[in-house]
Amino acid sequence: MEYTYEDKKAEEYLYQGEKFFQEGRYTQTIDALSACLKCALSEDAGWIECRAYNVLGDLFLFSGYETAAMENYLNAKRKARDRKVSRQAVYAEIKIGLLYEDMGGTQEALRHLDYAIEESRQTEKIDYEVLAEAYIQKAYVYCKGGNFEEAAGIVSVVDSIMKIHPENVLPLKHKLLLARLAKYGSDVDKLTSSIRNLLQLIMQEECSMEYCRFYMDVCVFLLECGRREELKMLLKRLEPVLMGTEFISIVRQYLKLQLSYDKRFSDKRTYQMTCGRYMSQNDSYADRLLEFRLQNIQNLEELQRIRWERDKYRERSRRDMTTGLYNKAAMEEEICSYLLSRPFRTVDALIILDIDDFKHVNDDYGHLIGDAVILRLSQLMREAYEKDAFLGRFGGDEFVVFIKNIENAEEMERKLEKLKEEFGSTNFGKDGELYCTISVGVSYNMEFSTSYEALFECADQALYKAKEYGKDKIAFYEIKAGLLKYL
Ligand code: GH3
Ligand code: MG
Repeated sequence: MEYTYEDKKAEEYLYQGEKFFQEGRYTQTIDALSACLKCALSEDAGWIECRAYNVLGDLFLFSGYETAAMENYLNAKRKARDRKVSRQAVYAEIKIGLLYEDMGGTQEALRHLDYAIEESRQTEKIDYEVLAEAYIQKAYVYCKGGNFEEAAGIVSVVDSIMKIHPENVLPLKHKLLLARLAKYGSDVDKLTSSIRNLLQLIMQEECSMEYCRFYMDVCVFLLECGRREELKMLLKRLEPVLMGTEFISIVRQYLKLQLSYDKRFSDKRTYQMTCGRYMSQNDSYADRLLEFRLQNIQNLEELQRIRWERDKYRERSRRDMTTGLYNKAAMEEEICSYLLSRPFRTVDALIILDIDDFKHVNDDYGHLIGDAVILRLSQLMREAYEKDAFLGRFGGDEFVVFIKNIENAEEMERKLEKLKEEFGSTNFGKDGELYCTISVGVSYNMEFSTSYEALFECADQALYKAKEYGKDKIAFYEIKAGLLKYL
């Protein structure tokens, strides 16, 4: 893995941003991560961009801007898919799920956690750490909804992952789950021992910002269990970390917990004092939110601008200059990423179109006419397959159409025939007549998804047959029947 100068710079900004985030610094984190996102990353360093978006998501979440958080998680997910950094895609998916859970959307939360589980399994080598994390979060969502039976089922899956890959299961979150289940099962001994275990672990670890949602979850649980001593200890431990941050949503949540503690366990005077503290924090919350909101809009605008510019640049490098269609690399990328998440039981088609005797057109009529022929074909392709298709030029006179999810194969074939006829009836001659034809090879992707390479190979073989049988023809390669059928 070779990192470029830009990659190294981006990595440094990312670590800086993460450090500021840990320290609870709002503006500095955004500045460092924006600088990171401005760098033009090479393929190997794609994870940097995705991680930056994920941290930005956390930052906005902790500051009370759920929509900005969601936007960044979605960006992280999209980039991670594009760049095939599965781990970051899973993290983004988990965070999106938890964001829904926070807002009361349990069904959506579960759906996203299922995506996360699916995604972490799809990689060639299963990433057990993120898989376990996704399962644990799913079990949490069930616990919070009071659905302990489901939760217990998932915990047994986590347990079995733990047996084989103990280093990959996050012990803290796992322990809290066990404690919750012990409480549900009224197993007092187990509850006591798992809480003790959990607290021991938390006290040993450095209090990281990323985990503070989890710590507060633990606090809520301790409160539910009436565990005064442990709760007091944990609140004390969290106070300097959480109260010292600029993330107002976190501060507010912490004070609320403190308030619940005092209401239940402290004397009246202490409770009143905490009330006062909470209320004055609440007053300033509104002002600070407004202030932050303005700053935030500016930040978002800046981030958006960076994204547009980068996307424009990237988009340009993905296009064929003459026709504006995707180039070969971009086509391959699009098709492969579609095939990864392709719905079951759909039919897709990969079509290769090649102009017949194009060399003669160039040689006899000049390159300008040749270019006009190429443009005409690309224009007809656009008209025929505007939606649900990827259109590309693979260089020279070879074009590819990939049609997603074909509902009616006959209609698709008719359309293809029409395109061929329209192209064939175009007069390209300036003074006299010049007509051109195309040969076409088609392969279908049936029920069981085939790889891009196989699809392309089959379409190419069909095209070869179309040429061999006299050109100006459409040939189909039928994968399912395992035999060739020529029109
Ligand atoms: P076949 O029927 O077997 O496809 O024969 P062909 O003459 O079309 O053969 P081939 O596909 O190998 O020829 C492609 C030609 O396309 C070669 C090159 O001169 C021409 N070409 C490649 N790119 C361009 C371009 O951008 N503009 C023009 N005008 N011609 C191009
Ligand atoms: Mg040709």
